[in-house]
Amino acid sequence: MDASPLPPGAGRLWLPYTQMQTASPPLRAAWTEGCRIGLADGRVLIDGIASWWTACHGYNHPHIRDAVTRQLGRMPHVMLGGLVHEPALTLAERLAALLPGDLDRVFFADSGSVAVEVAIKMALQYWLNRGVRGRTKLLAFRGGYHGDTLATMAVCDPEEGMHALFAGALPQHHIADLPHDDAGEAVLDRLLAVEGDGVAAILAEPLVQGAGGMLFHAPDVLRRLRRLADRHGLLLILDEIFTGFGRTGTMFACEAAGIVPDIVTVSKALTGGTMALSAAVARTHVFEAFLSDDPAHALMHGPTYMGNPLACAAANASLDLFRAEDRLGQVAAIADQLRAELEPCRSLPGVVDVRVLGAIGVVQMAEIADMNRLRAALVAEGVWIRPFRTILYLTPAFTITPAGLATLTSAIRTVLAAAR
Ligand SMILES: *Cc1c(COP(=O)(O)O)cnc(C)c1O
Repeated sequence: MDASPLPPGAGRLWLPYTQMQTASPPLRAAWTEGCRIGLADGRVLIDGIASWWTACHGYNHPHIRDAVTRQLGRMPHVMLGGLVHEPALTLAERLAALLPGDLDRVFFADSGSVAVEVAIKMALQYWLNRGVRGRTKLLAFRGGYHGDTLATMAVCDPEEGMHALFAGALPQHHIADLPHDDAGEAVLDRLLAVEGDGVAAILAEPLVQGAGGMLFHAPDVLRRLRRLADRHGLLLILDEIFTGFGRTGTMFACEAAGIVPDIVTVSKALTGGTMALSAAVARTHVFEAFLSDDPAHALMHGPTYMGNPLACAAANASLDLFRAEDRLGQVAAIADQLRAELEPCRSLPGVVDVRVLGAIGVVQMAEIADMNRLRAALVAEGVWIRPFRTILYLTPAFTITPAGLATLTSAIRTVLAAAR
């Protein structure tokens, strides 16, 4: 049945982030339920990463499934150009109410990368609409990840990122170290004193740089970024695509710092892992910079499937669950259990760090020599965990049971102890 032997089992698929010549055969998923992934060969894996951090209520949650099914019967899709609909109106209202401050204008898109592109475009045009020219650059950070499209590649970590190859083809931005202390803030102050007139916005992931290696920073770093933006008259964009919806312990990571960014991007867990949907949400003053008698001051962007009613219905149902069930309490309990059960990894060979924030547990290795073998060993333990670079990490569904989580942490300990 396979059209291609490279690797067996992939058929005609071109898989993401994959050297197709040397990759291990992909596993064939047949069904999902809660925190389990059923394979076509009958094996069942406990899921440790919630499908790239999306399935925060576990898979196939009946409340989300019912909402999507009802919406499917009524109206699977309609264009948002000139038409609006209840699922999108309701979701925008709810996001505005949940987000801090006056973050209350919601622009929908269909993927995280596109939401970041929209946020960048908003920031660039914000200045143009106000008659300020020449603010074409962003200040972004080492370790950062904001997507795989061309504009977002340019604001990822230039070396660690998966995009160094394209350096010559990308716009040049300022990529600096996050300001962890006064000295770091002073460095950025000096940079912006010289270059600030060419900068439109500061862009960062709050509290956790996810795909860059699950690197954590203190809430104070975000307060420093807010201060720097204010001092130099810049917009602050926070990319909450990974952190949004409870992952770090608060509904949005920026809440932990008590700051309000000018634009925020959300996606990943927005629909509870059901459908593709993202949003760039702007504060009032950003939105107002686009109001004018001049049609050219409008935001000229409009993904075909933006605000898809099925996806909005899924997102509304996901937000129902955050209200009806104590998700943030579950995140706190997961954090405690991750700390207790991953801490013993510190003494295992090759482990250089163990860290936990909210429902994110990370075991950092000095190196992972044979990634294929490590991944296979984890599957053999009955768990779905995808180590990358030098880390093994867990980002389970918030609904995982203590026993399910214990299976995940024990698999990591077993596999690392056997790897000596
Ligand atoms: C995953 C991610 C993106 C990109 O989202 P896609 O839906 O894959 O395009 C952007 N920013 C952050 C912080 C992410 O974690």
